[in-house]
Amino acid sequence: MTDPGGPCEIHRVRITGTGRWALWRLPNRGLIAFVLLAEAAALAGALGSAWVDPPGRAEVFPTLALIGCVLLHTELSRPVEQLREQFAGTPHISLDTVWTFAAVLLLHPALAALVISVSFLYRWLRGRPTPLFRRVFSAAATVLSGYAAAAALAALTTVPFASATRELTEFGAITLAGAVFLAVNTALMTVAVYFGSPHERLREALASPEEYGLEAATIGLGVLLAWALADWPVALLLVVGITLSLHRNVLVHQLRRQARSDAKTGLLNAAAWHAAAAGELARAARAGRTTSVLMLDLDRFKRVNDRHGHLVGDRYLLAVADTLRTEVRAGDLTGRFGGEEFVVLLPGTAPVHAHAIAERIRGHIAAQTAGLPEPITVSIGLAAAPPATVADVDALLEAADTALYAAKHAGRNRTAGHRQAG
Ligand code: GH3
Ligand code: MG
Ligand code: MG
Repeated sequence: MTDPGGPCEIHRVRITGTGRWALWRLPNRGLIAFVLLAEAAALAGALGSAWVDPPGRAEVFPTLALIGCVLLHTELSRPVEQLREQFAGTPHISLDTVWTFAAVLLLHPALAALVISVSFLYRWLRGRPTPLFRRVFSAAATVLSGYAAAAALAALTTVPFASATRELTEFGAITLAGAVFLAVNTALMTVAVYFGSPHERLREALASPEEYGLEAATIGLGVLLAWALADWPVALLLVVGITLSLHRNVLVHQLRRQARSDAKTGLLNAAAWHAAAAGELARAARAGRTTSVLMLDLDRFKRVNDRHGHLVGDRYLLAVADTLRTEVRAGDLTGRFGGEEFVVLLPGTAPVHAHAIAERIRGHIAAQTAGLPEPITVSIGLAAAPPATVADVDALLEAADTALYAAKHAGRNRTAGHRQAG
């Protein structure tokens, strides 16, 4: 799971005095109560279950083996984690659910809680400094998710995982337990992230579908690991190797996506847009389709910055990017070309339609920036690549730029030109 992010990320927590604990700086008391309650419930569950039904000797080996996996994997994955830390903004992806879910399936609840705690705390000790209370809460949330999954499994099956028959019904019960684990963990983490940082919408507090897919995959690997530990312990080395390789691939995917996007707006950056546009233009030429391009420039933006400061200026840039994102189709390419200039490639769109899209964007930018200190307008230059010729991206941009200048000279807040480039 990704760790909840937020403004206090940069503070190194000191455990010497509770007054310095970043937990007390959380934005509301309800959230502090929620965090403490989750931690108390996780601890009470572990102590209570150990008191009522102490773990047996047979569980010592799998517990130690899983703790060994945690330590080994944390150490072996450090080079990748260190690389990730050099790129601010790349969320931390932990694949530790592999070990924690295996512990949930195989071990006494108190021992599963121990493995989970070791996993979270060891990574905290060996990683970049982050507030301890977050790690403790994430561990508690995972422990509680484990209790819920174990309860679901106990309700559906009568024999413990290690000695259960490998039948379809068992498989169904384990799959359901995995789903319970994911759902409870998501619910607990989402509440913490949603109330812990100033997110505007609940959707923003949720992880991406890709991240949930990855989490589900690590739960699946956890099942295989538990199976290996029960039937063929040495095979757990394979699981450690697979997890390391998965971790590296996830990072490469993340970095590739990050390298393509503009940090301020999340749109494609100029280089990525250029490369993607060249590919689209070649495809359009082969298919004999017209492609249009829009170049947008905010009107008198320097004045907005001078009056309200650059941070407010950046909010305009975000509002424009949001408008572009929502106003174009999925196959269109939207990029930030320069400071306050944006480009949109519209494959298969004739200039007359592109003109209508440009006008619609202009109208929506006015609405989207209505909540900001003063209204803003944009000027748009439009150019099109004729069908069946491989147009050069730069030639097309040059034509759009010339049209943009014409729009500025004609008084701004308008769309100009659909001169053919090529
Ligand atoms: P016009 O285009 O209508 O001719 O006037 P303008 O004032 O928008 O034009 P100009 O190109 O001279 O100014 C662009 C301004 O955009 C200058 C700079 O302050 C601002 N700008 C560029 N990049 C950023 C950025 O990332 N954030 C903020 N806040 N402002 C930026
Ligand atoms: Mg400009
Ligand atoms: Mg401008």
